[in-house]
Amino acid sequence: MVNNDSIFEIRGLKTQFFTSKGIVPAVDGVDITVRKGEAVGLVGESGCGKSMTAMSVMQLLKKPGRVVDGTIKLNGEDLLKMNKREINDIRGNRISMIFQEPMTALNPVYTIGKQAMEALMIHQKISKEDAKAKVIDMFAKVGIPEPEKRFSVYPHQLSGGLRQRVMIAMAMICNPELMIADEPTTALDVTIEAQILYLMSQLQKEVGTAVIMITHNLGVVAESCDYVYVMYAGKIMEEAPVKELFKNPLHPYTFGLMNSIPKMTEVKTHLYTIKGMVPNLLNLPQGCRFCPRCDKAMKICTMYQPDLYELEDGHKVRCFLYNKEVMESGK
Ligand code: SF4
Repeated sequence: MVNNDSIFEIRGLKTQFFTSKGIVPAVDGVDITVRKGEAVGLVGESGCGKSMTAMSVMQLLKKPGRVVDGTIKLNGEDLLKMNKREINDIRGNRISMIFQEPMTALNPVYTIGKQAMEALMIHQKISKEDAKAKVIDMFAKVGIPEPEKRFSVYPHQLSGGLRQRVMIAMAMICNPELMIADEPTTALDVTIEAQILYLMSQLQKEVGTAVIMITHNLGVVAESCDYVYVMYAGKIMEEAPVKELFKNPLHPYTFGLMNSIPKMTEVKTHLYTIKGMVPNLLNLPQGCRFCPRCDKAMKICTMYQPDLYELEDGHKVRCFLYNKEVMESGK
């Protein structure tokens, strides 16, 4: 894959939690590349490490978790080498984040207008009047009705959909280079979900912001992303341009995820589910992490961890089935 126009690169990221029961490798050597204006999906079941990847980027990890290795570069500058002041300067300004449940991110005791103004005034040296005008303009842009009136309401006075629009307005108001959206539509019904995804992609195109969309829902990825990473038990298992992944899923885990999506054209008596459970990160299998759930597992899969093999045009897969030597040797 050509990385020349990448604005954001994660390389070899390892995030671990040092618990009394042992070390939990929540993110285990993850590489992610995002180009200017591109929307990248990070998909997987809950607990696979996708939110921990986002928290590592934003440096919002809580103890006993910490990044133990890797680099996180925004336009060539390594975030992991920055001090607290430099990170605070980037967070909410050059990189912003949208959370699944806006009530956890919004302060219930301040009006939404005041909160949005604050983000703007911290990072851009503008007057109160200009900040207020910009916030009202942004509220209108994200489809908040009567934005001037709504400026003075508190988060609890809004519906879930409107609260999420406020979060998007706050995330986009400083024209960030990168926005990380962690399950931004999971708590919303499907109609509102479609509206929010449409709004995000419109703003993204208008401003040229790159997006990392974290989701368990492949449907959301299909709707809104250009490129996708499939994550499982702390590792990237497959990555490809979205169209290629949907046309030609290669990893048995991706296959399982795809099969669990109900299709309009098929009548099924029950939905497919991937057998077994996500492994306990304190007690991972010795070989391939997906092995205990894989229908195609071979002997070698129980002994060694596969690398991420690069196939055609940016399609990469972590599975021995795509290693010629292994398949020819019949292991
Ligand atoms: Fe399945 Fe083996 Fe591929 Fe792992 S490496 S996904 S166990 S076939």
